[in-house]
Amino acid sequence: MDYLAGLNPQQRAAVENTQGPAMIVAGAGSGKTRVITYRVAHLIQKGVDPFNILVLTFTNKASKDMRERIMKVIGAEAKNIWMGTFHSVFAKILRVEADKIGYPSNFTIYDTDDSKSLIRSILKEMQLDDKLYNANFVYNRMSSAKNNLISYSEYMQSAEIQAEDNSNKRPLMGVIYETYTKRCFKAGAMDFDDLLFKTNVLLKNHPDVLNKYQQKFKYLMVDEYQDTNFSQYTIVKKLAAAYQNICVVGDDAQSIYAFRGANIQNILNFERDYPELQVYKLEQNYRSTQNIVEVANSIIANNKNQLEKNVFSDNESGDRIKVQRAFTDNEEGKLVAEAIVQERSSKGYDYQDFAILYRTNAQSRAMEEALRKLNVPYKIYGGLSFYQRKEIKDLIAYFRLTFNPSDEEAIKRVINYPRRGLGDTTVEKIIVAADKHDITMWQVICNPQQYIEGRIANQLNDFAMLIQSFAAEAKKLDAYETALYIAQHSGILKELHTDDSIEGRSRYENIQELLNGIKEFAEREDIEDRSLAIFMQDIALLTNDDRGDDKNKDTVSLMTIHSSKGLEFKNVFIVGLEENLFPSQMSLNSRTDLEEERRLFYVAITRAEKKLTLTYATSRYRWGTLTNCEPSRFINEINAKYLELEVVKPTKNNFGEDSFDNERRTWTQQRDSFSKPKPAMSSGSSSSGTASAAAPRPKTTSLLPKAHVPTPGFAPDPANAFQNGMDVEHEKFGFGKIVSLEGTLPDVKATVFFQGLGNKQLLLKFAKLRIV
Ligand code: ATP
Ligand code: MG
Repeated sequence: MDYLAGLNPQQRAAVENTQGPAMIVAGAGSGKTRVITYRVAHLIQKGVDPFNILVLTFTNKASKDMRERIMKVIGAEAKNIWMGTFHSVFAKILRVEADKIGYPSNFTIYDTDDSKSLIRSILKEMQLDDKLYNANFVYNRMSSAKNNLISYSEYMQSAEIQAEDNSNKRPLMGVIYETYTKRCFKAGAMDFDDLLFKTNVLLKNHPDVLNKYQQKFKYLMVDEYQDTNFSQYTIVKKLAAAYQNICVVGDDAQSIYAFRGANIQNILNFERDYPELQVYKLEQNYRSTQNIVEVANSIIANNKNQLEKNVFSDNESGDRIKVQRAFTDNEEGKLVAEAIVQERSSKGYDYQDFAILYRTNAQSRAMEEALRKLNVPYKIYGGLSFYQRKEIKDLIAYFRLTFNPSDEEAIKRVINYPRRGLGDTTVEKIIVAADKHDITMWQVICNPQQYIEGRIANQLNDFAMLIQSFAAEAKKLDAYETALYIAQHSGILKELHTDDSIEGRSRYENIQELLNGIKEFAEREDIEDRSLAIFMQDIALLTNDDRGDDKNKDTVSLMTIHSSKGLEFKNVFIVGLEENLFPSQMSLNSRTDLEEERRLFYVAITRAEKKLTLTYATSRYRWGTLTNCEPSRFINEINAKYLELEVVKPTKNNFGEDSFDNERRTWTQQRDSFSKPKPAMSSGSSSSGTASAAAPRPKTTSLLPKAHVPTPGFAPDPANAFQNGMDVEHEKFGFGKIVSLEGTLPDVKATVFFQGLGNKQLLLKFAKLRIV
């Protein structure tokens, strides 16, 4: 077959030997994902029924891409392969088997916000100190228990865990875990970790169910195996036990989710679990230039704990790795945006050939601003997604209640939104009554007279009837009609429509956008079940990394390194290479954590095909204060022979303390000479750093519009000096007029109209603004 020709001998062997356990642990870009893809196609070519194949990927996007590729080889049959993330595949199975573990098949999936809100309720009810028992802490602790398959009763029985909680002064963790579990159960809800935990319970306690899925999934494949946790490992092991046709691929050097419970031990266990194992070695990297591969290899060599591997590239040696220094994060954004514009026009790249990768989501702001200024289209993966916006979550909470009225978090969210006189006191009364009578909040709401005192019975009855009417409509209407009906009759559309502020309008548009999305879903022909319930399941299971996926658009991709796993781009910028940012401050205390950061750097580097640029700033705003930054140790770990260093030379102070023009000098130098941190920046006052002198090169002209030169003696006014309609001068944006003021001191936000720039929102306490 044709597709086999696109494989080297090792890859081909791994594709063709389909029987028995197999493992590929190989470096980045060596074709592991390609092997899985072709292996599935090959199985089907050989006559295996696609319904008997299960492929587990790390993101929904990855499985979508893989399915499309397989479709090209074998056609529409590819639709029948079971393929997706652990969470989405097992949520689907749990819906079918829910009754076996006492759950309704329309169970709700709680997202992290729901989980944390429930934790906060429990802490309040137990009158616990929410600083000591911080919701994030509790959430992570329970999460790690579940990912290690420790139930709440096992948690409470473990002397070791108890000793740990006692010494942390949190002896009640086990009780919280128990209450949380019971409350989720009562609400007919599972959180993300439950989806895997309950699958394990299901497969353990119901041999008939286990047998059914063992027979169904005769062939299993897992991509990014290094990032599976114990709970996932156990599911895979159970399912594969009957036929042992299990193929896992991964790279220990790319294990970057240990903080979430991923366990590299799973790779080592695999060898122990399947002594008959076939191991395949892939050593050739097809993705990147030789320089990039060698840099990646030399970086990862600094890690002590790693499996021995060889990776080489036969591609061209390629450009050197470019290192660029900026003086601030804004400057850094500018450099990257300009480089993209320049590379695109000089080398004929598309925008989609570029990716900007960062350690933390917060870093996207400076990048976005700079890209917008140059009209570069971009897409952000992850971050606060569309579905996490308040108005969207409100409407979805109504959808959730329509299908599962026991869903407590959804009730809490919308019982008084839009307002209907059912405030916090009422909600507390309902919770107390539900607890006392051991019934759900919904049961209390349906019979208020029986359970609570006070004059709110009528409102509660109305609310119950409203939800019941939604459920009745959902039975008659399609997904879109149901959604529209709920948006209208819940009062949400009206509520947002009457809000005439810019934010109000955009919230209204977002609801429209959601409805459009549902309409599209309702009209899809490639899926059988187009109900609103299924739409909701899909969006509940979107991973951070799936968002922003719109491959029809030619845009630059912005994402965290974690989200970039498995992807590749011709041109990659890794930004914010500074100590305490990357490696992160948290990682500096232990070798294990630092090694995980280094693996993260390795992942980032190996996304690049042709060109890699590393940037850092010598100062940036972090948590609201200007901090000095030192270049990351990771830059120093790269042999200088692979590097090309470029530094921006500061001239005049027309950008406040961020002020440098775009004159650049490029040269290659020994790595040691640049590693010293640059100018001392002092918060508040302006300073002009000096760049180290270097062999001059011809000037390059700026691609940005000329910056405003502030009036001599420019001094910003305090935040409380401003009023609506005032004429003002901004240090960087020039002259403008205050259009509106919002918020209370010291957090007043001003919208200012600037000539040629339009409206800009400024937080007055930080803005360099003066009254003219
Ligand atoms: P990662 O570790 O980053 O997930 P990977 O090992 O999964 O990488 P792939 O994404 O499968 O690697 O492959 C990397 C690139 O190399 C892809 O563009 C793929 O199409 C290409 N490639 C892999 N094998 C071959 C081959 N034999 N011939 C040509 N190109 C190949
Ligand atoms: Mg891969």
